[in-house]
Formats: sequence, C-alpha cells, structure tokens
Amino acid sequence: MSTFLPFALPDIGDEEIDEVVSALRSGWLTTGPKTRQFEADFKAFVDPSAEALAVNSATAGLHLALEALGVGPGDEVLVPTYTFTASGEVVRYLGADVKFVDVDRRTFNVTAADFEKALSPRTKVLMPVHFAGLACDMDPILALARKHGLKVVEDAAHTLPTTYKSKPIGSLDSDFTIFSFYATKTVPTGEGGMIVTRNPELAKRCKVMRLHGINRDAFDRYTSKAPAWYYEVVAPGFKYNMTDVASSIGIHQLRKAHALRDKRQRMVEAYDEALAHLPLELPPRAPAGDLHAHHLYVVRLTDSRHDRGKVIEAMAEEGVGCSVHFIPCHTQPYWRERYGHKPSDFPNAMANFERAVSLPLYTKMTTTDQQRVVEALTKVLHRLGH
Ligand SMILES: *Cc1c(COP(=O)(O)O)cnc(C)c1O
Repeated sequence: MSTFLPFALPDIGDEEIDEVVSALRSGWLTTGPKTRQFEADFKAFVDPSAEALAVNSATAGLHLALEALGVGPGDEVLVPTYTFTASGEVVRYLGADVKFVDVDRRTFNVTAADFEKALSPRTKVLMPVHFAGLACDMDPILALARKHGLKVVEDAAHTLPTTYKSKPIGSLDSDFTIFSFYATKTVPTGEGGMIVTRNPELAKRCKVMRLHGINRDAFDRYTSKAPAWYYEVVAPGFKYNMTDVASSIGIHQLRKAHALRDKRQRMVEAYDEALAHLPLELPPRAPAGDLHAHHLYVVRLTDSRHDRGKVIEAMAEEGVGCSVHFIPCHTQPYWRERYGHKPSDFPNAMANFERAVSLPLYTKMTTTDQQRVVEALTKVLHRLGH
C-alpha cells in the first residue's frame, strides 16, 4: 500500500524558500521590510482603501480588533458555535461574554436571523465566521448591525480569496476582517494573521497594541527621524507582531492565492463528480459569480448506518487522513460549563457536526491522491453500511 495521505500540507515553492533565505541573510528576523511589503501587498489584494496590519496569528488579530472596539466586562459578542474556539476565546481575554448562536443547516454559516434571535441590550459585536471559505450572507448581517448600532468583526480565517457579491472578503462594510496564515490555511506562513480595517483610529489602536503599547512599531523605530532609542508606552500592549521570516512566505503565497484557489476549485469539482453517487451531502457551492476559497471540503454522511467516528477511523486504516470541522464550541468543557449549554441548544450545528467529515483538499495532492480518497471512501461507506 502507498504511504499515508495526510489531511493537509502546505504548497511551498522555491520563491518562498528564496525569500526566507533573503530575510535570513538581511539580518531582519523580526518585523521589518518583508512585513511592510506583505502588508502593502495584502492591502492591494483585498482593498486598497483599507489598512492591513500583520500580526502573529488570527487569534491575536481578533483580540486586537475587539480591544480596539472597546469590548470589555458587561459586553456580549455573538459568535457562531460552529467555529474554532479562537473566535470566542478572545472575547473572554477582555472579560466580556460570548453568546453562541446556531448556524444555517445547509451552508454551516451563521445568518442574520441567527444573530437577531440572540440580541440583548448587552450585545456589542457580531462575529460572522465564513466557514470553509464560503462567505456568509453579509448584507443582512451588516444591515442588522447598522439597525442596532453594533460592530461587525469578520473571522475570515478560511477566506482567502473569497468574494461576496463580487467584492473580496476584507472589502465589505464591516469594522474589521481578520485573516489567518496558520500552517493549514489557504495562504500559510506557519503562523500569522492580518487585520484589515478602513477606520484609521481603530488601525492606530491595533498598531500600538500589537507591540507592547508602544506608539511606533519596530520598523519605524529603525527608520524614522526620531532618535532610535526613543519610544513612548501608552498602554499595556501585547507581543503580537509578525516576523519577516513568516512574511517572506506570505508575500509569495499571496501572489499564488488565486492560482492555488483555482486548482482547489478544480479538485472540488472532481470530488463533487466522483462522490455524487455516494450517500453524502456534498459541500455547498458559492453563488454564481462568487469565489469560494475552498479551504475545507466537508461532506456530511446521509445514511444513518454510518457512524462518523468509525468512518474517519476506517479512512485512516485505508491510509487517508480526514478531520472534523468543527466540534461545536458550546459542547467543549470550558464553554459548556461557563454558559450551562446542552448539546441540543444549537440543533443545526449538532446535526452538521455529527455527520461531518473533512476530506483532504490541498494543491500538493495529485489526481492519483484524490482518486485514492474517493476509492477509500467508497469502500469504507460500502463496508460500514451493512
Ligand atoms: C484557524 C482559525 C482561527 C485562528 O487562526 P490562528 O491564525 O491559528 O490564530 C480562527 N478562526 C477560525 C475559524 C479558524 O479556523
């Protein structure tokens, strides 16, 4: 049998390697010219009228965004339960509370109606999460926020490059959009994230808070006219800056983002066709004319004889790594105990979670690799269906 096919692998070329080597040779290891270039490129990519601020993770970006919006004790941030715990944990860093909401059964995405049901006088921020790279239906969410004077912070960790009504995610009328460059994401740098905002005051606060509450970042410190040793601390900030080694990878991954997405799209079409006859609900597609980033390919089992855990175990025995996105937050011990949730509180999230299997989808996979996944899944579903 051939070797194990992992669930995810980055697609790193010579361009990324050469750029990292150039960063190493330059002597700039931390935030410097490569990060400045990555920020400029990113801004040009999603919205030239926005500011793009690099940080060392999307989690850090979400934290800084909420901090800049003044989220604190007594406030509530509405977060879909069908997400990674990072979306909600940053709310707790600030002493505010998370209020989980359910998601749409078909798309896995939170809707304006889900948010509306959970509004309270304490609600301050709505946090839509664009699951798997498919944009949430943002117009009604933005309208709801406007109507109630709420802020919107998009968790766009899966969403590069995704469009909503032909506009890139990152260019919509929200307060913040936060991207992730974690190793498994569509534009990976190992660790990293990007804050996008069109509000200069909010951008300024994030810039200060991402580096110890110092009012100039490291790059300015070494190039501005003020004496190099001088700086002012205006707040107890964080250590969230991105390194030039990571940004070197990002510069080239971003240039390839559309080509790599196109390749994943073709792989998705191949999966859709090859799996159409199996007892599966295939992933939702983007509306006509819009781009889906295809970060994840999540099928849902439709035959009740198939146990999701057993399917994943059997796939591993066949040499194929699968995963689950996500274990709904409200079922996790910390969140369950803090807010007293029962699994059944969010029925759509639970129904999806219990049937969801994420299949490998990354551009290093060959056609043969994809055929292996299809053959293994066909065999496993057949065997476990009796
Ligand atoms: C990966 C992920 C994050 C966190 O990203 P990091 O860059 O690892 O901090 C946040 N939200 C979602 C939905 C994610 O999948």
